[in-house]
Order: sequence, then structure tokens, then C-alpha cells
Amino acid sequence: MMTDQEKTIQDLDAKHHLHPFMPHPDIARKGARVITRAEGCYIYDDSGHKILDAMAGLWTTQIGTGREEMVQTAAEAMRQLSYYNTFFYTTHPNVARLAEKIAEKTPGDISKIHFASSGSEAVDTAYKLVKYYWNLKGQPQRKQFIARENAYHGSTAVAASLCGLSGMHEKYDLPIDGIHHVGPAPHYYNNGGEMTEDAFRDHCVQAIEDKILEIGPDNVAAFIGEPIQGAGGLIIPPEGYWTKVEALCRKYGILLWCDEVITGWGRTGKWFGSEYYGVTPDIITMAKGLTSGYQPLSAVALGGDIAETISQEEGEMVHGFTYSGHPVATAVGLKNIEIMEREGLIDTPDQDEKISYFSEQLSLLNDHPLVGETRTLGLLGAIELVKDKTTRARYSDEENVGFICREHCFDSGLVMRSVGNTMILCPPLVITTEQIDELIAKAREALDKTYSQVS
Ligand code: PLP
Repeated sequence: MMTDQEKTIQDLDAKHHLHPFMPHPDIARKGARVITRAEGCYIYDDSGHKILDAMAGLWTTQIGTGREEMVQTAAEAMRQLSYYNTFFYTTHPNVARLAEKIAEKTPGDISKIHFASSGSEAVDTAYKLVKYYWNLKGQPQRKQFIARENAYHGSTAVAASLCGLSGMHEKYDLPIDGIHHVGPAPHYYNNGGEMTEDAFRDHCVQAIEDKILEIGPDNVAAFIGEPIQGAGGLIIPPEGYWTKVEALCRKYGILLWCDEVITGWGRTGKWFGSEYYGVTPDIITMAKGLTSGYQPLSAVALGGDIAETISQEEGEMVHGFTYSGHPVATAVGLKNIEIMEREGLIDTPDQDEKISYFSEQLSLLNDHPLVGETRTLGLLGAIELVKDKTTRARYSDEENVGFICREHCFDSGLVMRSVGNTMILCPPLVITTEQIDELIAKAREALDKTYSQVS
């Protein structure tokens, strides 16, 4: 039962708050769910309803929420230096240390880091730095970017243009010029048809090469990809895909840009998704898990020639934000990484065991009549909801089966995200095996309720 005060929050929200990615009349009709606190892997709503957050907020809360050590770190950083910029030949200890830490943890020869606040800002920054680089290299014609179908790279104008989701473009007259999307997305279950998985992988890679040749290899500035596509439906590419994509980039002298806003910071079991796949990107964009969401912070990490060229240019970089390298956010980022190291949350036998358990348990849902496929990589998981398991026939958009399942999850005390007919899981790295059991039990309950509603 809601108190008057809490009802007021819903009313105020409906009246004045524009939500990201939400239909506002529907929010006004239903009232937004009011989340009042979070602790560890759980969030709590205004009725005290305890909900296991199997989406880590928004792919974000690696170390779990509400940790006192993080609170103390932020408070101390604020006391010490609540704000100063990094523009005018100034720096501060946290930004310098975090830049070093990122260079240490990223694969390959990443050496230069620029900070921003959101993943989208990092993506827009990287896009500009790529153009800057090719101008400095005397190849100003290299301005075309290749992205993929189903990609998600953020909401600002450039980042949204790079997305391979038509919904990100239609209402905003996007994409901007110079961005090319290539398909199919490397999603074997959905797009593989009658091909073997290897043949399908080669088909996806060939499509990228065909696009490069169509644009003209000397005109292509960079290829951008999420090691595992997240918001586009948790697409885990077939084995060998990334090695082949990297080889293509090297063959044609194209920069390889891995957008690791989701796959960075331990999601795959390794520190970075590119490390998991054994590739060495020229550019890595990151956010989310960098601070576990305790502060907004993102980064663009550069390696190889682009790092050298930009950092050796005598002129100004002519780019940056008021909050580039914010002292409190960078302190929080450092503490977050320290905790992940201390607690062995990334690339340790204990965490690998937990990842295997997650994978085994999720696969038990394959026996459910609504489930066509489950898949996991690291602590990322997806459940494909199908009308017919053998033909892989889907429910129509109007049947809204993913949305129905998501609502049943919430009611059962579990957050799972739906992307069309795909249910997505991304639990905090600190989730325990008992909590994985709880997750699976609640997921099954929600699937049962969904099935009886739609079948
Ligand atoms: N890039 C990827 C791969 C993402 O998944 C996201 C957000 O989910 C972004 C960029 C944008 O990040 P933000 O929402 O912080 O702007």
C-alpha cells in the first residue's frame, strides 16, 4: 500500500519528469515504480518490495550497491577536492592514477586515456579523435565509419547514429552522414538459418569486408563494435569472429574500436571483452563498470599509433568537458577497481567457477516450453522466448511477450530486461551462488506465468 507521500512522488514524476526511452502517457497511466534504496544485489521499492537486480542496474553495478567503503571514498574525495578541472595545465592525483590503472588493465598497448561522464560522451569523443587522427596523418579522406546492425552505442547524436537500431534514428533524423551499418549481426540463433556456425561467422565477416570494399578501403576510418552486443539483444558472436574482424581491420589499415561500455570491467570474466576474444583494439570506450555506477564516469582509451599521434601533436586537442576526469568520480573509479582486485571478482578461479555455475543453471531453463535458447558468456545471459521451439517461430511484436515476462519478473522480485523477445541478464559480479539459485527460480516462475498468459 502506498503512502500519500510516495503517491506524490509518482504524481510529481508523471507531471514533470521526462524519462529516458519511455512512452510518457503510459507512465502517467500506470505510475512509475518508485525505487527507494539498494543494497548489494537487491533494490527496494516504495512498498519495501525486495527485488533481485539481475541487470546490475543498467549493466553497471559490478561490486553491488550501497557499499560503505565507496561512500567513504566519495566523501573523502569531496572533502579534499570536490571539483577542479583538468584544462589549464592542471591535474590531480586521482585522475593521473586512474589513467595509469586503466592503461594497466586494458589489453594491448593502450596508453592514453581521456575521461568523460557517460558512455555516449565517450563514444562521441572517440569519433572525434578518430577524425582528428586521420587529419593529422594526412589522410583526411578516411572519414567513413562502419558499425553493425543491432549495435547500441548511446544516445547523443553521433552515438545514436552509430547504433544499428532503426528506433534510435527515426524520430531524430539520424544517422548523420558517413556512418554505415553492416549486417547480419553475428547472432547465430536468429540469423544463422541453415548455415553451420562457422559458415555463418565467415558470412558475417565477409559482409564487413564487402562493405569496406564498397566504401573504398582508403576511406574507412574505423570499425566500431561491442565485443558482445548488449542492448541490441545480447549477441555473442561465433567463435573466431573477432580474430577475423581484427585481421580485416589490419589488412585495410582501419582503426579497430571496441565499445566496451558493457563488456569492460569483468563482464566476460576477463577485465575486458577484447581481452577475452584475444584482440587488441586501437580504441576502447568504457563507462558503467568503471565506477560500478557510484559516480558517472567514462573513458576513451587509445593505443598504438592513434595514442602516439594525438599525444605528440604540438597543438591543442580542442576537446574536453567540464567534468573530464572529475576528482570525485575518479577517486570512486580507483576504489571500485581496488575492490574488484581485492575480492577477486575478475579473472580468478573463484569467479570463473561462479560464471560456470551461472551458465549451467541458466541452461536448465532450456526445458521450458517458452524457451528457444539460453546463452551466456561471463556474467551475461539471455533467454530467447519462442512460440515454437522446433521452428524457432517468434511471438509478434503486438503480443509483447518479452514485456509481459519482464513485468512478471518484477512482480516475482527479479529484474530481467526484455529486448523484444529476448530476456537479458547481467547480474552484479558479486552475485553469490545462492542468489543465482534465487534468480533461476524466480525466472522460471515468471516464465511459467508468462506462458500461461500467452499460450
Ligand atoms: N555504448 C554501449 C555499448 C552501451 O551499452 C551504452 C549504454 O548502454 C552506451 C555506449 C551509452 O552509455 P551511456 O548510457 O552512459 O551514455
